[in-house]
Amino acid sequence: MIIVMRHGATQDDINKVIDLIKLKGREVHLSEGESHTIVGAVGEKVIDPREFELLDGVKEVIKISSSYKLASRIFQQEDTIIEVNGVKFGGGYTGMIAGPCTIENEEQIFECARLLSQSGVKIIRGGAFKPRTSPYSFQGLGEEGLKLIRAAADKYNLAVTSEVMEISQIPLFIKYVDILQVGARNMQNFNLLRELSRVNKPVIIKRGLSATINEWLMAAEYILSGTNREVILCERGIRTFEVATRNTLDLCAIPVVKKMSHLPIIVDPSHGTGLRDKVVPMSLASVAAGCDGLIIEVHNKPECALCDGAQSLYPEQFDVLFNKLKKLAPVVDKTMN
Ligand code: PEP
Ligand code: MN
Repeated sequence: MIIVMRHGATQDDINKVIDLIKLKGREVHLSEGESHTIVGAVGEKVIDPREFELLDGVKEVIKISSSYKLASRIFQQEDTIIEVNGVKFGGGYTGMIAGPCTIENEEQIFECARLLSQSGVKIIRGGAFKPRTSPYSFQGLGEEGLKLIRAAADKYNLAVTSEVMEISQIPLFIKYVDILQVGARNMQNFNLLRELSRVNKPVIIKRGLSATINEWLMAAEYILSGTNREVILCERGIRTFEVATRNTLDLCAIPVVKKMSHLPIIVDPSHGTGLRDKVVPMSLASVAAGCDGLIIEVHNKPECALCDGAQSLYPEQFDVLFNKLKKLAPVVDKTMN
């Protein structure tokens, strides 16, 4: 962080800034320019820029070191590559995850697993604990759902990802699931994130409904702050004034995040658009923009789905899309897997 003093700031003003930096446990680096004095605060200790903005003689406070350190490109220059069931996310790889919004019953999840594995998918998604807006909507099958998706995945040699909603569910997820998902609504559930920092499995962290990229990276930092090094960021659309789509899929987040962080970033075009016919073009656009993976809702019978049928692809539609994506990825120096 650097503190730029106003032209005409007194020595007393400068000394107060220096004293506060020292009090906060940082080192002082002073640069006396022709028109301004610049005071640098160097070190690891977190300090609130507002405390300096309030001091007399201060013109501007510029944060130069990112507050997310472990998630930052400064901390690690090379891309983190996360591999699950032979599928890589990050670096030159774009991984595919597909499956229904929610696990509904044995027949549905086994049929989804069969069809997806036929298309070459290696990781299936499916919610067992659903964060529904209405308490009267289907809430998921709970542990029974996790058992079903695990059994279906094992039959077709798939890995499983599913959303964990609270700390008490973590042991269940460690038992049945290969990648734990934190939903958009829980992106800032800091107690949950802290607990996940001690889990030895990859975590997908979805971007909050109205979260800035910085807040999202700070959430990832929570998970990285323990022993867990495997965090996948997921852009799933944000709330804007636009109502033509369920959310506004922020594809610009891909190049922005890739510059700021070494973590893989995947895209969920299903929740990002809310409409099946928009999922195909936005999947192609995501890969073209350099995403490290996709998570797409696919249902064996979307018109009968208990949740998010309108945004779920038909298996045949998904199959065509996956093949197109495999052809598109090399254009942007990626391998779709
Ligand atoms: C989901 O993936 O099932 C889900 C609920 O997504 P989000 O948290 O992005 O809304
Ligand atoms: Mn859904």
